[in-house]
Amino acid sequence: MRDLNLLPKAHLHLHFTGSMRVATLERLAERQGMRLPEGLTDNRALHVPSDQRGWFRFQRAYDAARKVVRSEESMRTIVREAAEDDAAESSRRLEIQIDPTSYAPFLGGITPALEIVLDEAKAANAATGVEIAVIVAASRIRHPLEARTLARLAARHAGDGPGDVVGFGLSNDERRGTTSQWASAFRIARKAGLPAVPHGGELLGPEHVREVIDHLAPTRIGHGVRSSEDSDLLGRIVDAGIALEVCPASNVSLGVYPDSHRVPVRDLVDAGATVALGADDPLLFLSRLTDQYEALRAQGFTDAELAGLAAGSVRASFACEASKRTWLAEIDAWLAAED
Ligand SMILES: [Zn+2]
Repeated sequence: MRDLNLLPKAHLHLHFTGSMRVATLERLAERQGMRLPEGLTDNRALHVPSDQRGWFRFQRAYDAARKVVRSEESMRTIVREAAEDDAAESSRRLEIQIDPTSYAPFLGGITPALEIVLDEAKAANAATGVEIAVIVAASRIRHPLEARTLARLAARHAGDGPGDVVGFGLSNDERRGTTSQWASAFRIARKAGLPAVPHGGELLGPEHVREVIDHLAPTRIGHGVRSSEDSDLLGRIVDAGIALEVCPASNVSLGVYPDSHRVPVRDLVDAGATVALGADDPLLFLSRLTDQYEALRAQGFTDAELAGLAAGSVRASFACEASKRTWLAEIDAWLAAED
């Protein structure tokens, strides 16, 4: 069997705090004399029977982890380590997602909070060779006017290279707020050339995905796995060329599916959808990027199909065409090598 860790890929769904190494979280907490909640760092908080899993358990753990990130140094460490960890898994391109609002109180505002991340992304790119770009994501639990402010901030840093903002997202609990309320923020981002990459269709089903498509005009959807429940919707996604950032470990940890064999990637792929696998929050799910490919290998995906998924992730990234061509050739070489 070919080594999936050596398969070149792009990583399009990873959250800033959720990317943190467990050891880093523990070190930052200790340095600040903060006690982490029981079970946070060994996945016991989320490893419960599937009917007890869910968003609130996850949110509590995520909020506790985010509380330790209170300095420029810790933010730089997180970006740098995310790049190193992606490099170790043959990721060529990382599009890391951040809502700078959470860190703004400790850094002097959302602008410096974002600029630290962009600056370190550039440095980490030079150090690791992984192209790191940033998705600025608004949160469904905040007022939509704040999303517009974030969109304007994102627009000022829009570009397509390492250390640039390359997209605008919407994260947090899908069940919060009315999707149409965020349409104006996404319009601001789109005017600046930033494609929309909102979450949708993980906790909620096809109706939610339809709302996200109708109001936010996404280029990619974070998750979107539950589009598999509606063939008309899935056909619409395929026709529109909207890629799905699928994160099997996340789906299982949040109780959307009882185990990774039930994550319907096969249905999505058979329908012709572009799927880009992502780790979402490896800190909490203890499952990184290559693990998502391993999960599909366990479902019966062949090496050629797994290489096809990696190629899908590269094509769905916002990297320049020259970089994509290079990585696609590397994927072909991985598949052509003797297994
Ligand atoms: Zn996510």
